[in-house]
Amino acid sequence: MIVIEYKVKAKQHQFLAIDEAIRTTQFIRNKSIRYWMDNEKVNGADLNKNCTKLAKEFSFVKDLNSMARQSAAERAWLAISRFYSNCKKKIPGKKGYPSFKKNVRSVEYKTCGWKLDKSNKSITFKDGKGIGKVKLIGSRELNFYSDSEIKRARIVKRADGYYVQFCLSIDPRVAVNTSLEATGNAVGIDLGLIDFMTDNQGLKVPTPKFYRQGEKQLNRTNRKKSKKFKKGQKHQSNNYHKARKRYSLKHLRVSRQRKEWLKRLALRLVKSKDLIVYEDLNVKGLVKNPKLAKSISDAGWSIFRQWLDYFAYKYGKVSLAVAPHYTSQECSNCGMIVKKALSERTHVCSECKSVLDRDENAAINILRKGIYQLSTTLGRRECEASGDETSALIGEILLRASFVNE
Ligand SMILES: [Zn+2]
Repeated sequence: MIVIEYKVKAKQHQFLAIDEAIRTTQFIRNKSIRYWMDNEKVNGADLNKNCTKLAKEFSFVKDLNSMARQSAAERAWLAISRFYSNCKKKIPGKKGYPSFKKNVRSVEYKTCGWKLDKSNKSITFKDGKGIGKVKLIGSRELNFYSDSEIKRARIVKRADGYYVQFCLSIDPRVAVNTSLEATGNAVGIDLGLIDFMTDNQGLKVPTPKFYRQGEKQLNRTNRKKSKKFKKGQKHQSNNYHKARKRYSLKHLRVSRQRKEWLKRLALRLVKSKDLIVYEDLNVKGLVKNPKLAKSISDAGWSIFRQWLDYFAYKYGKVSLAVAPHYTSQECSNCGMIVKKALSERTHVCSECKSVLDRDENAAINILRKGIYQLSTTLGRRECEASGDETSALIGEILLRASFVNE
């Protein structure tokens, strides 16, 4: 699945119509959650039926395209099934009980209710919401793809305007059709707060300055916003709304800048290596530590790993997550466990006397774990293929192979 995004240029009344469509989406989603709460054993199909009922009951629901209505109900079902699966997996802490949303920001049309014009420079939404024809601004070309490949058209509202996203059912690998040359390099990376990344050769990528700068600016605009907020008042002043707008614009800018940086770093890594091993950190668990929470959720590790996996897949490389246990404690030279606090930046082994940067030591362990994991899974597959499940040892396979050759 790939996503192509355009900015929308339209008239004021069209933006109001988009807002109305988004509000209806939110209405359907929340009503679906309510229906699930009030009734027993509700499934996805029931929510769809309920959606049809809502359309009969409320004319503004009926105005929204039928598939867009369905997609709004599906959002509710997504939240519900995520909750179910969290309960099933018994993940610790909150399970994400579905809640009502107050600021839904998008409306999703599927394959109907809209039409691209021939040049693909504008799109017309044809349901009862009256959005009509809007211009699309952006450099990416939709012409390469056939209409049947566009599975969804989504309108998204952001602080700086409206966007249309097209979701295409295309394998990103096929879309580029270029697997990269093998580089012969494998790398283990340790993600951290002081340095964003350290690899197994001790190479460090520091967290960029704009991370902290952006944070300061955000805090300042947030303070200004809070000062203008009058508690207990139903309608806030114009100055408050101006400050709120400034804050959300700033927020958008800072997060875009961060995401772009993470994306580029991931791409650079995938282009220069064949195998990238990283730690499968439970970000959710870590964020519970209040001291670290802010820094971790800002660090962007999960976004970074998503981009790593995406690019690795797209360019035919391997990215691999390994369990994080003992990666920073174990000595990468002799395997001895050397306990250390988070503040200790150097690994000093009392057994083999090796002295290493803490993160470099971890990165070496991560790479080793990754290669071990790969060899085990590939080795086991080999065994299953030969029908002999009892020998899971790669050594045995090799022995057998050499015996056959003789
Ligand atoms: Zn050692």
